[in-house]
Amino acid sequence: MVSPIFVSACLVGFRCRYDGCFKTSRSVLDLLEGQEWIPVCPEQYAGLPTPRVPMAFAGGTGQDALAGEARIVQQNGREVTQLLLNASRCLVLLGMGWGVKCAILKERSPSCGVTTTYVGEERVKGMGVFAAMLKVEGIEVLSEETLGARGGQP
Ligand code: SF4
Repeated sequence: MVSPIFVSACLVGFRCRYDGCFKTSRSVLDLLEGQEWIPVCPEQYAGLPTPRVPMAFAGGTGQDALAGEARIVQQNGREVTQLLLNASRCLVLLGMGWGVKCAILKERSPSCGVTTTYVGEERVKGMGVFAAMLKVEGIEVLSEETLGARGGQP
């Protein structure tokens, strides 16, 4: 059975970022060529608008948020932790049902970040909530910034 790959939608041309822009990655597109892949944006899936108010973690990162020990807060003070946890959970379950084994995600996002994200204005080591949840379920998560280190194979 073919295992489709989840990919952050902003990396493949969708204008889903908080600022209404995309962040297309040539290396991601090259890697996906000939493969089955599914674009996902947890923040849009959570029902947040695009553009939207930027957000960051408070009290920890994605792994901590899964344990109820960190929050995700927009710059206007609105907490969106539960929204993003719910959306991530739905996408992870869909991915498991579709046989997804691997995800290529946008670095530093509070949802998709793989190795770093933001607590307040400080960039720290840690994952976004969607990435952290995928990892817990055994789905491999790859940063779009370190694909080259894997020799081009997902
Ligand atoms: S990084 Fe993830 S949550 Fe943010 S715009 Fe891209 S796909 Fe959406």
